[in-house]
Amino acid sequence: MISNINHVKRVMGNLSAKKKYGQNFLIDSNIVDKIAKNACDSNCLTVEIGPGLGGLTEMLLKYSKAVDAYEIDKDMYDILIDSIDDKRLNVYLEDFMDTDISKYQNQEIRVCSNLPYYVTTPILFKLFESTLNISKITVMVQKEVGDRFKAKVNSEDYNALSIIVQYLYDVKHEMSVPKNVFYPAPKVDSAVISFTPKVDRDAEFEKKFFSLVKNSFVMRRKTLHNNFKQFLDNETIEKIYTTLNLDKNIRAQELTLADFLKINELL
Ligand code: SAM
Repeated sequence: MISNINHVKRVMGNLSAKKKYGQNFLIDSNIVDKIAKNACDSNCLTVEIGPGLGGLTEMLLKYSKAVDAYEIDKDMYDILIDSIDDKRLNVYLEDFMDTDISKYQNQEIRVCSNLPYYVTTPILFKLFESTLNISKITVMVQKEVGDRFKAKVNSEDYNALSIIVQYLYDVKHEMSVPKNVFYPAPKVDSAVISFTPKVDRDAEFEKKFFSLVKNSFVMRRKTLHNNFKQFLDNETIEKIYTTLNLDKNIRAQELTLADFLKINELL
């Protein structure tokens, strides 16, 4: 097992985990097995971002048809290709932010990653914005980041991002993960979150809807009415408030996803 403190220390030798690449390796093989089992489909290729020493990769191979793994750090890449000998694994020495993921457009894929925390949001957005057939995205993130994606209406974390993500995906908190199952241990606890697509993608609709949602939250402390005034005419605003029977003082964070969809229809 790669996800084991003795193995990790041995293969790392004189190397230290690189903070700038968000390197925190999983050292509990039971948790890694659970994540992989939940993330994969035996008929599907799994794309892994940041395989590191290969602890999660090893388990992804157990439950997937094949694995493509993208690693930015040459030291990790060298250790990984020495550690796992499996024809179903392709490892790319590449910054995932530069990867052309359109190569996956003709097949269903799964994505799984213990994400490097410094680049969590850009990586997720790269995936969310793509029109690939990704049937499930399963990621380890810092607990607070997970809370934001799952945030409910009226809560402090609820914002344009929560609404857009919850429109596109069924977002599920799969498990909480304590800091002591990582080496080195990070400062905060983590969570495994999964995203399963729930709508057919429609680029034109998304452009209009996402812009409505983002513009409604531009000035979070101001009323929705004040935000609307920046991009809608008075007649349209009046129609929205009457049709949805909204209070003039309501703020964007008090509206549900369904409310925003109704407003979008009126535009
Ligand atoms: N998968 C391993 C595990 O769970 O033990 C390592 C996870 S560690 C949190 C994040 C990994 O992502 C590191 O191996 C790091 O070098 C790699 N990484 C960081 N930035 C990356 C990027 N932009 N593209 C690809 N890999 C990246």
